[in-house]
Order: sequence, then C-alpha cells, then structure tokens
Amino acid sequence: MSGIYIHIPFCERKCIYCDFYSIENLDQIDLFVNSILQEIKIFKSESDFVGGTCFDTIYFGGGTPSLLKVSQFEKILNALYENFCISDNPEITVEANPGTVDKEKLSKFKCIGINRLSLGVQSFLDDELKFLGRIHTSEDAIRCIEFAFESGFENVNVDLIFGLPGQSEERWRENLFTVIKLNVPHISAYNLIVEKGTPLYEVVRSGEVKLPSDDEQAGLYEITMELLENAGYIHYEVSNYARSGFECRHNLKYWRYESYVGFGPSAHSFWGNRRWWNVANLGKYLNLIAQGKLPIANFEILSDEKMVEEFIYLGLRSTGIDLKKFKERFAFDFIGGEIKEKLVEMKKNGYIEMDDFKVRLTRKGFSVCDEIAVNLVSKIKYVLK
Ligand code: SF4
Repeated sequence: MSGIYIHIPFCERKCIYCDFYSIENLDQIDLFVNSILQEIKIFKSESDFVGGTCFDTIYFGGGTPSLLKVSQFEKILNALYENFCISDNPEITVEANPGTVDKEKLSKFKCIGINRLSLGVQSFLDDELKFLGRIHTSEDAIRCIEFAFESGFENVNVDLIFGLPGQSEERWRENLFTVIKLNVPHISAYNLIVEKGTPLYEVVRSGEVKLPSDDEQAGLYEITMELLENAGYIHYEVSNYARSGFECRHNLKYWRYESYVGFGPSAHSFWGNRRWWNVANLGKYLNLIAQGKLPIANFEILSDEKMVEEFIYLGLRSTGIDLKKFKERFAFDFIGGEIKEKLVEMKKNGYIEMDDFKVRLTRKGFSVCDEIAVNLVSKIKYVLK
C-alpha cells in the first residue's frame, strides 16, 4: 500500500522559522484546487506504474490546509477516489491551525471521511506563540483540541516546538504537561531548527536572538522523552510519540521507505528507486497545469548505495532497521562482518537494542541518532565496496 500527499500552499501569515513552501495571498485558492484536480488526472494518465497499487493513506499538509473549504476537500477526495484505488479504511489526515477551524467545520471534515487531525499548536504559552509568529493564542489552541474531540475525532496530533530562545526546562515541561492533560493520543515534539532564508535565521545571525546551547537543547529533548514515555506514549520516531495504535500510518511510510505520490507545489514523490518533486512556486505550478503538463521540477534516480543509506537512516530514526526487509530489498544481510562488531559495541554502550528482526535505538541512542547513522553507514559503504 502506498500513500498520497497533497500540499496546500497557503498560510494567513508566515511564521518566522518556517521554510515550507507557502504564500500569504489567499486569492488563488479556488484556482489552485481546480489545478490539483487536473494534476491528479494528468498524473493518472501518464503514470502506468501506479496501475495496480492501492493507497491507504491521504495526507493534506502545507501550508495551512484548514484554510480550504470543506467542499474543496470533498472535490479533491472525490478526484482521488475516481482516479486511484483507495483502500477500504484509509487514514485521511488534515493539518489544521488553531484559529482557522471551528467545531462546525471539524464536524463536516468528519462527515466527508477525514479521520485524523494534525494541529499546529507549537506552544501553550502566549509569549512563545508570539515569538514564533503564530496567529493563535494558547486559549485558541486548547479550544481547538477540545473541538476536535467533541466533533468525534479520536486520532488527533498536536505539534509542539522546543528549544526556543530563553525557554527554561520548567516552561517546556509546562507545555508537555498541558498536552498530556488534554489526553491527545499523538504528539510531534520538534526541536526549533534555524533554516537559512527565514526571518529567524537573520535574527539569530545578527545576535538579536540567542538560542539555547546544544547541551540545553539535549536536556529539553531528554525531558520530552522521559515525560511522554512515563505518560504512556510510545516513542516511535525521533520527534514523534503516540499512544498504542495511534502511530501516523502516513508518516510511517516515509520512515519505512515505502512509496508515496505528492500533488501540489513543492510536493515530493518516491517510487521504487525514483524520487521527483514539483515546482515550489504557485504561479509556475498553475501555468504548467494549464498547459496540461505535470509540474515536476526535477527527479533523481537513487543508486543502490544511496538507498541502503536512506533505509538505515530512516529506520534508525523510527521503529528500527527491519532486518528481513533489508535483506529482501538489498539482497545481503545487514548484520555481518565489521558492522556486527560495531553493533555489539553500540549495544554494550547502551545506544541500541537488537534481536533477530530489528536494530533499534534506545533512549540514549535517540539523543545521538545522527552520529550513530553516520557511523553505521560508513561501515556499510565499506561492505558495499
Ligand atoms: S502555519 Fe505552518 S506552514 Fe504556515 S508559515 Fe506557519 S509553520 Fe509554516
């Protein structure tokens, strides 16, 4: 089963840290929705390779998808059902920002088959929300979560960000305690990343804003793992925690290296050994679609070596490297030769756990996930030579 991603490139206001493709001019939403319908049709007619595939996840990300009308979601979903095989029980997620939805809109989402909400809360503290440039208040966020449950959504995610300037451990704990108390079944807790080209990058570079040190950020990450695991959440990806059964099926596809197709400006797709991505510009996107062309900016054919690397990296970041799938896909054993020695050493030092099926990170290992991945990939390269 594969996944479908739809990128909705509109936001009421850009947040200072965000480098996702989105624009603040909402005038072209109608035209954009019609173009997405066209893109789905063009893709279907030009991509025989998806023929026998069934899709079991649909994810509306952005941008701020919740700015679309319910009828616009309905049109897009109808187009997907008309053009592709969609499984009986698909996970259909919509990213929504507090302040852009009310209880009535959420209830209508439910009625048209949307069954998972991902809420961009980021913080429950008003001064932090203001710093990040969010359009909502803490009160809006709590109300939105309550609306989601009252509208019948069980599968709800809340995004939170840590590592803000001057953020103490106490204030981060306050955010975590609030989300735990609200009984949200899925939490994505991301470290604030300073991306080049964002206003945040400029204020950090000029020294106007100082972020917590690496040690302080590591401390906040430790607190996140400890509090959420103690509250019964499963830590199933570096930044993601879920109650059992609420793991995001769509995101698991990315981490398990499974195929997905993306529609909309800047959306990425991955199929077999091929990755391609759409133009990250609404004007160019609309023009290409109007000419009956797919809005692809570029593509990449992945070498075996690159795929092995990505498989290891993504597996380590999430539920572990699946040894059976690794062998099926790459026709050699992951555990062998020099790697075995390295793994035994890592296990002894408490960074990984392994059995006959998986190699997975421990809590200590998650804190240094990138270093471990680089280390293992360098050994694999040696083996591949
Ligand atoms: S709402 Fe989300 S996508 Fe839009 S600017 Fe803020 S972080 Fe980026």
